[in-house]
Amino acid sequence: MTKRKAESTTSGGVEPHKRTRRMKVLSTSTRSEQQQAIYEANAVNSPLLRLPPEIRNRIWYFALGGRTIHICSFNLKGRHHRVYSVCQVPGIDDEFAKQIVRHNQLSGEAEIFEERDKRHGACHISRAMATTEYASQSSLNVLRTCRQVHVEGALIPFKLNDFDFFDFGDVARFLQSLFQEQAHAIEAITLSCVSPRTTATLGKLVMTRLKGLRQLRCFVDVSGWGTAFRTDWSNALSRFYGLATISATVLPYNGSFWMSLDSYHGCSREVMRAWAKEMEDGLIAAGS
Ligand SMILES: [Zn+2]
Repeated sequence: MTKRKAESTTSGGVEPHKRTRRMKVLSTSTRSEQQQAIYEANAVNSPLLRLPPEIRNRIWYFALGGRTIHICSFNLKGRHHRVYSVCQVPGIDDEFAKQIVRHNQLSGEAEIFEERDKRHGACHISRAMATTEYASQSSLNVLRTCRQVHVEGALIPFKLNDFDFFDFGDVARFLQSLFQEQAHAIEAITLSCVSPRTTATLGKLVMTRLKGLRQLRCFVDVSGWGTAFRTDWSNALSRFYGLATISATVLPYNGSFWMSLDSYHGCSREVMRAWAKEMEDGLIAAGS
C-alpha cells in the first residue's frame, strides 16, 4: 500500500512551503528519462506485461482482491497504530449474515449467537507483526515491482476487498490515512463495531470519501441493550445514510458476550427485523 511521504518542514526564518495534499496514488508525469526507458523496456520484455489486459486484470484480482481485511488499532503513548489482518476464515461472515436474516424472519424467542471475536479468533495477529504480515499476506509487494504494475494495480486492493471495522473511530482514522483516489475506490465495507459511538468528523469523512461505496453490511450485537439499542445505533448508522449504491444489509443479533449475566437483555426478532428494514432503507442510495 502506498504511504504518503512525510511533509517537509523548514526552519531558520525561511517561509514554510504551503502544505499541499497529494491527491494521486502515483504521478506518472515526473519520471526521468532513465525511468521512462525502464518503463518502456518492461512493457515490451516482461512476459506478464505482454499478456492481454483482461488476463492481467484476472491475475490482479486473485493476487490483490477478494479478501476481507480487518482494520483495528491500538493506542500506544497517545498515538493510534493501525493493525491490518487478512481474514483467515473467508466466507464465515457471509454465512453468519444468512443465518441472522433467516433467524430474524421467523417468530419465537430470539436465539443467542456467538460473538464476533470468536468467529474471527484465527484472524488476530500480534501488534509487532501487524504491518509486515498485512503486506505479505495480501501480496501488496507485487505493486512495488514496476511502474506499470503499480499503475494498473494500485487501487485494486481498495476496490476489490471488503474492509471490516470493529470500531467507528478506526473507520475515520483509516479514511484520513488514504489518498482521495484510494478512498474513492473502496466498494465494500463491513461494520462489526461493538459500540455505536460516532463523531461528526466520521460523518463528514464517509460522505466525502466513500463515494464509490457499493455494498455496506452492518453486524449489530444488540445484547445488553434490550430495545434501547435503537436510539444510539440508529444515530451511528445515520452517518452512512444514502451511501450504498448496490446493497445495504443490517444484521442485528443477540450476542453471547453478556449471556452469563442474570440481567441479560436480549431483543425480540420482531423488533430487530423492523429496525433492520428501517436502517437498510436509509443506507441505500436514492434511486438504487
Ligand atoms: Zn476474520
